[in-house]
Amino acid sequence: MQQYKKTSPVVGRFAPTPSGRMHLGNVFAAMMAWLFARKAQGEMVLRMEDLDTQRTSPAYAQILREDLHWLGLSYDRETPPQSTRTQTYIHYFERLREKGLLYPCFCTRSQLHSVNAPHLSDGTYVYGGTCRHLTREEQAAFQRPPAWRVQVPDRVWTVEDRVWGTYRENLKTDCGDFVVRRADGAFVYQLAVTVDDGESGVNQVVRGVDLLSSAPRQMYLQELFGFPHPEYAHIPLLVASDGRRLSKRDQDLDLGALRQRMSPQRLIGVLAYSAGLSDQPEDMTMEELLQVFSPEKLKKQDIFLDVSLLF
Ligand code: GLU
Repeated sequence: MQQYKKTSPVVGRFAPTPSGRMHLGNVFAAMMAWLFARKAQGEMVLRMEDLDTQRTSPAYAQILREDLHWLGLSYDRETPPQSTRTQTYIHYFERLREKGLLYPCFCTRSQLHSVNAPHLSDGTYVYGGTCRHLTREEQAAFQRPPAWRVQVPDRVWTVEDRVWGTYRENLKTDCGDFVVRRADGAFVYQLAVTVDDGESGVNQVVRGVDLLSSAPRQMYLQELFGFPHPEYAHIPLLVASDGRRLSKRDQDLDLGALRQRMSPQRLIGVLAYSAGLSDQPEDMTMEELLQVFSPEKLKKQDIFLDVSLLF
């Protein structure tokens, strides 16, 4: 595979979850992460996000590496998978405790999702701080392991996103104190991703817009851990012609099925054309797409994919 010149300090990443075959949305997100980093002549890092060991497996991780290779999405190094990094996450978790920012939460799922709790328009609940002021006696009375939440300040976070533009969120009113470790001891995505990106020097995060609202939580944790903020580019979602979001459920569109039916050049050409990055749905390699790519061409609107172009 072609070697890329790394002449800038940009470090981008792929952070896939090895829980099954990539679907088109994952392929598109991986293509965009690669294009942003390579256009900037930066480095590319691969990290397997296998925190959820029930749903993920090393076998899927291996298929993912092969799928990236098939697509022509090269990377320069792979950092250790999240499932091997519990000790590191404990270290950062303890730093939050030392800062006095953690407290145990005993709320049940149904309490959290109750109709009385404040919710944002997208249905996510805003944690009102129910367990924030429990006394030690009250905590002990639950007699079960708690989840751990980090306290958030009443402060607006601004993401200057390269695709989305300006996105603002006040963690206090739009999110509330959030969970960093679950009652079963597992660390959550927000903490792991912040630690991993920070420790591996990632300074460019390109991923689907469904993760835009995670950026302020991650920026807050970056600040607490002393990591610089990366630049963000949250890319639009792929939707079917009827406006439905393409997802892992569309099995005929996962990479296992698609690889049987077409070349990587065809798939790249159709995705690039659908996203407005090329004028014709003609076959092309990632190198060819890189020649014509500029980040400004990517618009924030949903990308309608005409599936018939694929077959
Ligand atoms: N692991 C996440 C996913 O596969 C991506 C996380 C991220 O890019 O921050 O959707």
